Amino acid sequence: MSVPSYDFRCDEHGVSTERHSMSTVPTTSVCPVCALPTRRVFTAPALGHGGSAAMRAIDATKQTADSPSVVSAVPRDRKPPRPVSRDPRHSRLPRP
Ligand SMILES: [Zn+2]
Repeated sequence: MSVPSYDFRCDEHGVSTERHSMSTVPTTSVCPVCALPTRRVFTAPALGHGGSAAMRAIDATKQTADSPSVVSAVPRDRKPPRPVSRDPRHSRLPRP
C-alpha cells in the first residue's frame, strides 16, 4: 500500500514533497533546507488537471476543511432593520 505524497511550500525554497498517511497529513511542516515553517499546497498534480476550474473548485473545497477562512468582525454597511409593526399608532410614539 502506497502512502500519498503532499506538497509543502517554503517562501524561500519552493515546494517540497512529503509522504503522510491520509489520516495524519499535517497542514504545516518544516522546510528541509532552512527548517522554517512551510504551508501545505493544495494541488493534485497526479491527476494532471491541476489548472482546470473543476480541480480549483475541489482544491478550494478541501482547503476550507483544513483551513477555513475566518471573519474577524461583523460585516459593516448593513441596512437598518425595517420596522416590524404596521400599526400607525406605533409610528407616532416618541423616538429616542
Ligand atoms: Zn526553506
